Amino acid sequence: MSNDTSDPLSPAFVLPFNSAILGSEYQPLKPGMTAPFRSPCWVIIRDASLVVCEIDGELQLPEGEPPPWCPTSSDALCIGMWRDRPLLALSLANNVEIAAPYQTMPFNGPDATLDERLSTLAGIANQIIKWEQRSRYCGCCGAIMDRIPLTWGKCCPACRSEQFPHIHPCIIVLVKRGDEFLLVRNAQWPTGRFSLVAGFLDIGESLEECVKREVLEETGITVQNIRYVGSQSWPFPSQQMIGFIADHAAGEPQPDGVEVVEARWFTVDTMPHYPNNIRSIARWIMKNYCV
Ligand SMILES: [Zn+2]
Repeated sequence: MSNDTSDPLSPAFVLPFNSAILGSEYQPLKPGMTAPFRSPCWVIIRDASLVVCEIDGELQLPEGEPPPWCPTSSDALCIGMWRDRPLLALSLANNVEIAAPYQTMPFNGPDATLDERLSTLAGIANQIIKWEQRSRYCGCCGAIMDRIPLTWGKCCPACRSEQFPHIHPCIIVLVKRGDEFLLVRNAQWPTGRFSLVAGFLDIGESLEECVKREVLEETGITVQNIRYVGSQSWPFPSQQMIGFIADHAAGEPQPDGVEVVEARWFTVDTMPHYPNNIRSIARWIMKNYCV
């Protein structure tokens, strides 16, 4: 494993879905880069699940020939090397029947029990596959896009506009007031479930401005002393979560009533359940900073 995964300055580095968690066993490859001619591994995605099979008593990626029920193996994309084998990514239609010894396992969500490294490979494949599906046609003129060699980018042969994979920055922030911390309940969540303020970066904003705006919009509170704590790739399909801590400056929680229906101060003693998703940076920030 690479020493990168234990960098003490970047503890969030090793969160699931950040490729650093894969260490030196994974090397990314882009289209046009040559993979050694070896028997491949398959990262086959269906919705938010990954196809795995049991090898030597361990759930692993399928290896060698594509599974016999895999109808579109010629569409596979080489997305890197995994344990010295070319890693080929495919998406599978819902109506394909997966036969034993293969099975699917969710790679994200509260019920995900899949190994974090396999989940991370599935996340990378998911993001690339979604990008490929959504970048077939030029957004300016509608022509079929060409590949820009050695990148995931595309170029339009008709109008020459270029597109590169869309990654959407999203801040997530823990607001503190002494030993209290501010949590919110999203309108979509059940009673009793709380997490951190989060939201997408707007055009023309710095990340710090985005933190201030999101906290003010969702809770009516102003913040100061904003500190970066870590980030996480969130490939569902293409967010980048950027985590912060901030101090309360003024105001009492007043949820906006639309996106957020509850906003409250908690202490360690009154702490609600951690966010359901054990792989999220929200949970990581709360476990490390709500102390
Ligand atoms: Zn065009």
